[in-house]
Amino acid sequence: MSNSTGKYQVLARKYRPTKFSEVIGQDALVRVIENSFKSGRIAQAFILTGVRGVGKTTTARLLAKGMNCIGKDGTGTVTTEPCNECTHCIAIANGNHMDVLEMDAASRTGVNDIRELLETVQYQPNTARYKVYIIDEVHMLSRSAFNALLKTLEEPPEHVVFIFATTEIRMVPVTILSRCQRFDLRRIEPHVLIKHLQSIAEREGAQVDEDAMKLLVRAAEGSVRDGISLLDQAISFSTGHITAEVTRNMLGLVDKGRILDLVEVIFKGDAAGALEELKAQYNDGADPQTILMDLSETIHFLTVVKINAKTLDDPTLSPEEKTRGLELSSKLSFPVLHRAWQMLLKILQELSYSPDHIMAAEMAMIRLTHVAELPTPHEMVKKLSIQKDDQPATETGDPPIERISVEKVQAEIKESLPSAKSKEEGNIEKFSTDPKPELREPPVEKPNHTHDQKQQISKENPKQRGLKDNKLVASVFEAFPEAKLVK
Ligand SMILES: [Zn+2]
Repeated sequence: MSNSTGKYQVLARKYRPTKFSEVIGQDALVRVIENSFKSGRIAQAFILTGVRGVGKTTTARLLAKGMNCIGKDGTGTVTTEPCNECTHCIAIANGNHMDVLEMDAASRTGVNDIRELLETVQYQPNTARYKVYIIDEVHMLSRSAFNALLKTLEEPPEHVVFIFATTEIRMVPVTILSRCQRFDLRRIEPHVLIKHLQSIAEREGAQVDEDAMKLLVRAAEGSVRDGISLLDQAISFSTGHITAEVTRNMLGLVDKGRILDLVEVIFKGDAAGALEELKAQYNDGADPQTILMDLSETIHFLTVVKINAKTLDDPTLSPEEKTRGLELSSKLSFPVLHRAWQMLLKILQELSYSPDHIMAAEMAMIRLTHVAELPTPHEMVKKLSIQKDDQPATETGDPPIERISVEKVQAEIKESLPSAKSKEEGNIEKFSTDPKPELREPPVEKPNHTHDQKQQISKENPKQRGLKDNKLVASVFEAFPEAKLVK
């Protein structure tokens, strides 16, 4: 883990690509740059965009090197495989080349900063082929700074090349963008990153278990830099052998298998079992908020798997996650998954003002198990239709309770909603999925109408009707809290 001088060097720096052939996961970009270098058609301004850690700054420096490298013998030309040995390559790598100027726009946003940077733009490069201006986080520049930059960009001197890097391409003015060759750096695919980290681990003499590697790559979220930094941490966290457990501890993660256990008991409607499993995970050191976040992540995972089983091809998934994920997703219906997702979002929001996270998580488990037991609107309508057709006598010998027909439930729901006046026939599905209750007509003219109708209905349906109806409507509202807004 140390370089030739014996000094410790972080892995992310040590394994930074020194030529384009070492750049991973950006094949399209590398190909385009190779072609333009070969044909000698080098743009005067580049803009590199992508999420953090995908290699924007690294690519910018590689471009600067490639444009200025003269080769070991001093006769080289523009290349995508800089020698890393000539004076230019070395100076650029050390960040002290006179003709390669770097500025971080995150800390220097003003027009004077840009003016200062561009002061020497008209002069020929001192020793290099090109004068390269690298501006990182270019979207942070002020408006007047952009204007000052634009002036130079409109007619740049031939020997000048600008390289901009940004995480927020939409914040860069179109006038700037239109003058740049744009490269979108992609997130690194998991299988590419796994291979890359594996080779680094080997070179570092560290043994990384397959599951541990999957966890690291998943946590890196497509960023090479994060991936290498996490590997670096894992190496110092362990004694040469990195297991999934070590990695989970380091990342503060809960075992995915245990989260799947929790999902299972919740959807069985087993509140006591869910509380027990939650407590066990908590006692093992898991943070309640993390558990809830992992739960929602798992709900999302199951829903996506249900839509497309190809999702399971993700190489960062463990075999257990694949088999259990497929099994669970086929058992659970979309409405149940959607409901759980909505509830978890709400619970996570509420967590910020809950006095105690474990308490809130416990309440969440109870709520989730209860909701898991509720029928979906579809099931409810089906059940009611069956009851309408087949009315059994009660065992107690009481007069049979009048069953409610689907039409009556719909009428009841329509009546409770101002939007019921719509010409279309309302139905339960429609009402339950209406996303914007606040856009409905204001309930100003409702009271009299509702009152009249209610009286009418109760005349038609004497005695027991009220109790049964209220229960049903209450369960509809419980399943769809948004409906409460318009009740
Ligand atoms: Zn060189």
